[in-house]
Amino acid sequence: MPIAESELILSEGHLNDKRLSASVSFLPIRLSDGRILNMEIKRSKKTRRFWLKADMSGIYMVVPENNYEINQAIKFLESKKLWILRTVKYYERARIKCGSDEIQSNSISFLGKMYRVILVKDTRFSITISNALSKITFHVTNLRQYKNEIKHWYYNETRRVIAERLGSIVEMNPMLPVYNKVLVKDHKSRWASCSEKKNLNFSLLLAALPVHLIDYVIIHELAHLIQLNHSKKFWEVVKGMDPEFQAHRKMLNKYSMLIRCTSIN
Ligand SMILES: [Zn+2]
Repeated sequence: MPIAESELILSEGHLNDKRLSASVSFLPIRLSDGRILNMEIKRSKKTRRFWLKADMSGIYMVVPENNYEINQAIKFLESKKLWILRTVKYYERARIKCGSDEIQSNSISFLGKMYRVILVKDTRFSITISNALSKITFHVTNLRQYKNEIKHWYYNETRRVIAERLGSIVEMNPMLPVYNKVLVKDHKSRWASCSEKKNLNFSLLLAALPVHLIDYVIIHELAHLIQLNHSKKFWEVVKGMDPEFQAHRKMLNKYSMLIRCTSIN
């Protein structure tokens, strides 16, 4: 699409000015629902291409630190307009669903409760949880890579809670076939999965959920040992182990939103 036809609001005089790219920190874009979004531009030494990133604080565009042309950046944004609108709407819904206090970018969920994250630089990793103040203090060794340390903490907590819950669920449901391995993975988009080899895979963020939803996720995967699909028969197996599974499914959706809003993703 020629730039002149683009809906981006920037006069053509600007378009071929390479010097301008160094000073631009916002690019306005008109979305198809009529609103004008000021896209924040962030420069990165590490990137050689344009890309978009979204979180609770908004959407921004990452560009190579030097050496990019502003008209290319505009063309790129133009080609992503649908995605941008969908994403803006997604986060608007997320704010409404989660309640604004629950989705501050510096909070995380642990066993269904939201905590404010306090970061302290220290010589080794440790944490202190204050339930009364709803805060978790993470003593991290590297403030720039603290997310990895928090992920590692989640990983350990998730392993611990799975070991506990899986054991008692299996004990209460002796008809279940045996599973092979239990793995905790850095899943981006799902809570769990069950493979044909009967491995149960769980997201390392599982410990973010309240225990009754952790149980539901485990039960869901255990039911896949019997039915490796989402047929009517599958849901009957789930219901046999969790009569309230429908309510739990809905709640899990709310938490999926919440998890995407937390600061370690
Ligand atoms: Zn499933």
